[in-house]
Amino acid sequence: MPNDPGTASIARLRGEFACATTEVGFLHQNTATILRDLHRSVLLCSLCYALFGIADVLALGLPGALVPLLSRLFPPLVAIVGLRYVSRAAAPIKAAYRSSSITSLLAMTSYLVVVCYRPHDILLHGMAMSLMAVAVLLFLPNRALTAVMIATGASFLFMLLAWHLDATDAQSFGAMTMMLVFANVFGVIACYRHARLWREQYWAQQVLQNLSVRDPLTGCYNRRHLNAALLDGEIARARRYSLNLSLIMCDLDGFKAINDTHGHHAGDELLRSFATLVLSMTRDAVDTVVRYGGEEFLIILPETPLDGAVELAERVRATFAGQRLRLDAATLSTSASFGVVSADFSTARSVTPQAMIAAADELMYDAKRGGRNQVCSHQLTPHLGLAA
Ligand code: GH3
Ligand code: MG
Ligand code: MG
Repeated sequence: MPNDPGTASIARLRGEFACATTEVGFLHQNTATILRDLHRSVLLCSLCYALFGIADVLALGLPGALVPLLSRLFPPLVAIVGLRYVSRAAAPIKAAYRSSSITSLLAMTSYLVVVCYRPHDILLHGMAMSLMAVAVLLFLPNRALTAVMIATGASFLFMLLAWHLDATDAQSFGAMTMMLVFANVFGVIACYRHARLWREQYWAQQVLQNLSVRDPLTGCYNRRHLNAALLDGEIARARRYSLNLSLIMCDLDGFKAINDTHGHHAGDELLRSFATLVLSMTRDAVDTVVRYGGEEFLIILPETPLDGAVELAERVRATFAGQRLRLDAATLSTSASFGVVSADFSTARSVTPQAMIAAADELMYDAKRGGRNQVCSHQLTPHLGLAA
């Protein structure tokens, strides 16, 4: 995906990646951060609400403060139940956002109840509403658009109620309106800026990571990535689930002569066309094509028995040998030789990555010795040997 800049664009209104797959990847990578932030913000906001409740009791006494007190304690209670729900949810981010939305909606609207009981302290409530709007927009993790609708909608309702109650003079009402409007405007701008910067940082990371594992000429994975994790991971999976795994080692024939005759640039173009062909013939997100050396490629085929791998190698061989690459005045063509090895990990459990690569390499050299432009293949036995 980092190869395709189209998947990096951010939808302005939502403040999220326009491409759903990219957004899912972003959320997946940041799940731990979002859940940690949700815990922290819920606990801190609950503490604030408990303190506000004490202020209500001091102002109104009991039982006069009972309803405002309950409306103060209800949002933290729901938030703490929400944390339990999130910790058990199969899709934790969706659950976190849902819980965040319900909590912030309750927290903001609880002020509408409190104001009805303490209308004389309207300026104080206006200040607290401004702070809450900022907390909803910036502090509680949520989707940007949802947070914006909750914060601005509740602030607007609060202003309507304050106007309806006529609890203060016009000048103070104007000052309070300005404070709420500024808090919302700055909060909305900061909310979108944060959403965008966080996603741009994620994308830059993806691009760098992709560059470090890809070969720039062909777009195939590079040897470093193969050594780091690739084959070990596939073999571990095949062993765990008793699957087949096949490797194809291929090497272009007479490639040095092409470089010598037509120049390095022509050689590069031919390499690129071979890689494009292999990438187009293998399964996306299942098979892996690695540039193993100069004009040598390794194809990793999970869950593929020997006959399937040989069939693929034959198809690539025949297509490539029949291809003609027109470049300036020259027409380039060559063939490739293939070594195919397969292991059934339900029996050959002790086969190692090194053993598989060595066997595929040996078979590829058999194909060279046999006259090139051909496929040699073998099934690895449980004892690491090559079956007859
Ligand atoms: P064989 O059929 O036995 O494989 O012969 P060959 O000529 O293909 O193999 P050899 O190993 O003699 O030569 C490989 C050549 O590939 C030599 C090297 O200069 C060239 N090569 C390696 N990497 C690149 C590259 O990135 N671009 C180009 N143009 N050439 C490359
Ligand atoms: Mg070669
Ligand atoms: Mg070679």
